[in-house]
Amino acid sequence: MHTNHTDARAQLHAAGLRVTAPRIAVLDAVAATPHADADRVAAAVRESLGSVSTQAVYDVLRACVHAGLLRRIEPAGSAARYETRTGDNHHHLVCRDCGTVVDIDCVVGAAPCLEPGDDHGFAIDEAEVVFWGLCPACRS
Ligand SMILES: [Zn+2]
Ligand SMILES: [Zn+2]
Repeated sequence: MHTNHTDARAQLHAAGLRVTAPRIAVLDAVAATPHADADRVAAAVRESLGSVSTQAVYDVLRACVHAGLLRRIEPAGSAARYETRTGDNHHHLVCRDCGTVVDIDCVVGAAPCLEPGDDHGFAIDEAEVVFWGLCPACRS
């Protein structure tokens, strides 16, 4: 994943975050396995860096979400998942059985992609759309 390192480095720098080995490793791990949960990210980070505490990984994930480098999703009944694809209002298709998550492009192209009949005076900026079903592996 050496090609990714420069990306992560540049992204951290552009976001005004200090470039540290754990931050680079977390961004690389999430880029390599989109929609991974924190445990899976922590396991990948430990593989490349040795001992890094789970708390440290959580701290990096939170900082990167806050800086807009990562998006955090939390499908009902699942641990929070992380991905590097941010800012495009894409949705997710989740398997009810195994929890596999797949990206679905925004249905209309921009948030909020659903307009309620009555907005009750709210300035609505997002509709959280999650598609649920069974993935091909779980169907067979
Ligand atoms: Zn499945
Ligand atoms: Zn996604």
